[in-house]
Amino acid sequence: MELLSRGAILPYATDNLIDGSTTRPERAGTGLPRYPRPMTQRTFVILKPDAVRRGLVGEILSRYEAKGLSIVKLEHRTIDAGMADEHYAEHVEQPWYPPLRDFVTSGPLVAAVLEGDEAIEVVRALNGATDGRKAAPGTIRGDFSLSNRENLVHGSDSPESADREIKLWFSV
Ligand code: ADP
Ligand code: MG
Repeated sequence: MELLSRGAILPYATDNLIDGSTTRPERAGTGLPRYPRPMTQRTFVILKPDAVRRGLVGEILSRYEAKGLSIVKLEHRTIDAGMADEHYAEHVEQPWYPPLRDFVTSGPLVAAVLEGDEAIEVVRALNGATDGRKAAPGTIRGDFSLSNRENLVHGSDSPESADREIKLWFSV
């Protein structure tokens, strides 16, 4: 007996389908999937050198994973000042940038690309407010950081930033 006959409605998460529908009729000959995947987004994340030094990489990654995000790229890396300047191009003129550059180049970090529904916003919510002293308990910064600079994580702030940062860090 055929368990799933052709054209059967497969059990599938019904929210977030690209076209807003809950099921999709077969689109014969279109080459398009009958059951589109939920909308996914990619975001770029850094587990900064304080996260590596403090042994918090596993704790932080497990929070992203437990939320449902997928790790699609992951790399342990040490960056130089030039890479820091490119990554933080929008901040290089800030008075607090030189010590930030020293910090992010001070030791190995972990760079990652995470994927999932609304990944950019979800990661920033999990990360918490920039200043660890003010970040809400339950967030990564709120639970583990007491600093405005050494705040453990970076997450892209928009789709444009995510595109730029993923290309900067992971293009070969
Ligand atoms: P976020 O990482 O939350 O997007 P920003 O883009 O404003 O924050 O800043 C980038 C990083 O620069 C912060 O994560 C933090 O490490 C550092 N930073 C931001 N503001 C300050 C500040 N006033 N003093 C020292 N470091 C700062
Ligand atoms: Mg930022």
